[in-house]
Formats: sequence, C-alpha cells, structure tokens
Amino acid sequence: MSTASTGPLEVGEAWDRVAAHTAPLPAERVALAAAAGRIAAQDARSGVDLPPFDRSAMDGYAVRAADTHPPAALTIAGEVAAGEVAENELAPGTALGITTGAALPPGADAILRVEDARVADGAVTPAGALAPGFHVRYRGEDVARGDVLAPAGTALTVQRVTALASAGVGEVAVHRRPVVHVLATGTELLEPGAAPEPGRIHESNRLTLRLLAERAGAEVVVHPVVPDDPDATRVAVQAGLAGDVLAVSGGVSVGPHDHVKPALEACGVREAFWRVRLKPGKPLWFGRRDVTLVFGLPGNPLSAVACFLLFVGPALRRLQGERDAAPPYVPVRLAVPARPADGRTTLLTARLVRAPDGVLEATPTEGQGSHLTGALAASDAFVVIPHAAGELPAGTVADALLL
Ligand code: AMP
Ligand code: MG
Repeated sequence: MSTASTGPLEVGEAWDRVAAHTAPLPAERVALAAAAGRIAAQDARSGVDLPPFDRSAMDGYAVRAADTHPPAALTIAGEVAAGEVAENELAPGTALGITTGAALPPGADAILRVEDARVADGAVTPAGALAPGFHVRYRGEDVARGDVLAPAGTALTVQRVTALASAGVGEVAVHRRPVVHVLATGTELLEPGAAPEPGRIHESNRLTLRLLAERAGAEVVVHPVVPDDPDATRVAVQAGLAGDVLAVSGGVSVGPHDHVKPALEACGVREAFWRVRLKPGKPLWFGRRDVTLVFGLPGNPLSAVACFLLFVGPALRRLQGERDAAPPYVPVRLAVPARPADGRTTLLTARLVRAPDGVLEATPTEGQGSHLTGALAASDAFVVIPHAAGELPAGTVADALLL
C-alpha cells in the first residue's frame, strides 16, 4: 500500500486505488427472494429440465396426429387437467380433453385446439389435419437441467430470479452484503429535527450516507455524532472499524479541530491516499485496516455525496461481487457552457431534462458550492467537468452522476 501523500490524485487514479483494495466478500446461501439485486457468487444452474415434461400449450384435446389424416371423429376418452397425469396410453381413434400446461398423455403427440374442434355425441372432429408436435411444449426445449441461468459475477435481476424460480431453485450463493459503519464528526452538529442552537447546524451526512449505502446494497450501522476531540474521535473510529467499511464524515482537512486522520493512524488504518483533484471532495482520505476499507469524507454535505457516488458506492458494489463496478457515469449534453473551478475536476449540481431528440440535457443550478443543500435538493445529477477541459461549450457531451 502506498503511504506517500504527495499532491492530490486525479479522480481516475483515486478510483483505481480504491478498486485495488476492494475484493468481493465471501459467499453465503440465501433464499431466492433475498438474493434479488445481489450478485451470484457461483454459477446458478437449473435443477430441472424446462418444461419438466411434455405439456400442452393450449386448451383442447390430446390426439394422435396420425388419427387426423384425414380428419375423423375421435371418441373423447376423458380429460386431463393441469397438475394431473393421465395414467393410460391414449388409444388410437380417441382424444383426451386437456388444459393448458397439462402433461401430454402417453401415446398422444399433438394438441387439437378447442377453437379447431367440433364436439358432438361424445366425439370430437378436428377442422383439419394436425402435424405431430402441434401445440406441444417439449421437455427441456427451454432449459436443460444444469444450464447456467445466472453466471457467477452477474446480478440476480428479477428476470434471472424468475428463471431460477421456474427452474426449481430455492436458494443461491451470493456475496455477503457489506456492513458499513457511519460516523459524523463535528462539535457543531445537531441531530436532524433538534431545536436550533446558536452556532450549531443540523447534521445530515449520517442520514445521507446511510440511505446511499443501503441503496447500494449495504447494511448500515449509524454511530452517535462525535465531538471534535482527539480522544472521542479515536474511540469512535475504533468502534467504527468493526465492519467491512467505515465512512467518517468531517474532520479530515487541515484545521486545528480536524482529528480524524490522527485517529485513523492511531487505530492502525493505513493511508492509501489523501486528497483528490476534485471539487467538491478534495480532502477525501482513503485507507484500509486488515479487511476494513476506510473513507474519510469531507463534512460538507455535497462533498460527502460526491465522494460517495464516485468512490464509496462503486466500492460497495465491488464488495458484493460486481466485478466491473465503477463510478456510474451517464452521458448528458450541456444546455449551457460550463467550466471547471480552480484547476479541479468539478461536479456541478444540475437539473436534467430530456430534449426533443431524446438526449438528457443538463443545466447547472445557479448556486454552486459544497454546502448548498438547497441546490442539491433542486438537482437531478452532478455534471462532471474535467479540470483539463477549460470551458465546455453548450452542446458538449459530458459525464453525469445521477442523484
Ligand atoms: P469539516 O469537513 O469537518 O471541515 O466540515 C466542513 C463543513 O461541513 C463544515 O461547515 C461543517 O459544519 C459541515 N459538516 C460537517 N459534518 C457535517 C454533517 N455531518 N452534516 C452536515 N454538515 C456537516
Ligand atoms: Mg468539522
């Protein structure tokens, strides 16, 4: 692990370092319903052939196709409904009433649809000749027992879970969910909803980080607010190192009351980097102790969100086994010119509107600042303006991070 804190890293370099420290968590077996949205840790295979037996695709009559050349009256020998199995072989010259999904009786090889059948005097006459296999769904024609329905490393989407349920699978191996501990430091911080007090502000980062981490698939443990005191910070950090990830907000800059970095060091967390050429989010700190990843996030609410979207969220996806998880950039088109601020890659809060040609068009909010939660509330995304870009004219395609 690199310990040298030189200048701020480029955003891409910082992500590469986070990714290099982030490996999938061990697997666990869970019920299919609990596996939805998670990542398969092993190939999930079908337990059966699908369909599991030859079955009717239609309501009608099971027949011997040869008996319909030419069409002739066939004696109705009874009925087999979905869920039942006909015991006896279908005798030549007879037909068996059958419902959609019922097993084809032995001896039958085609289905005469009700719409194509004329019934009179206990016999059914087909409107025309039938080819063998007509309206029969054959065993295994969709999926064979042992077929891979969700390869290791892929997401268990609703469509894959549906296929696995149909294939008789009740449980699958998925990567464990990361446990994320969330701390916020700052003597000035009041709990959400508390009565205002002079000189103090309402705290929002623990809630934001919890919601974003849960949305990214993590289990979250939220700790009490930590005052700006070296001992209190060290004790809180020690407690927060119990999970897979610790996200601490605030106190990671260079002020006299920023105690997070010394506390992390005292607890044996080794630095991978500190500071990114990013606005908002420059003071981001990242390191690791044993298997626990630690993110020291700047306290300003928009900085915390930006660093989550760029680094913490993708790391949580990788921990859950999503091998190629990375910052989730989507292309948007700038509605107005935009420029990076003071030599850093700049995330601008922006509204998104779909233009008449179908492309998402981004208009940055009037106010831009890492403390402007009002602007955040009015935004759909951050638009990313690379520091090397200079001013980008309206119409330029840029990356965005959806909020
Ligand atoms: P810091 O990173 O500790 O220097 O904090 C930067 C700014 O963010 C300061 O104005 C803090 O009051 C504010 N801040 C710190 N933590 C939080 C938090 N959890 N929620 C909202 N604002 C915060
Ligand atoms: Mg602070």
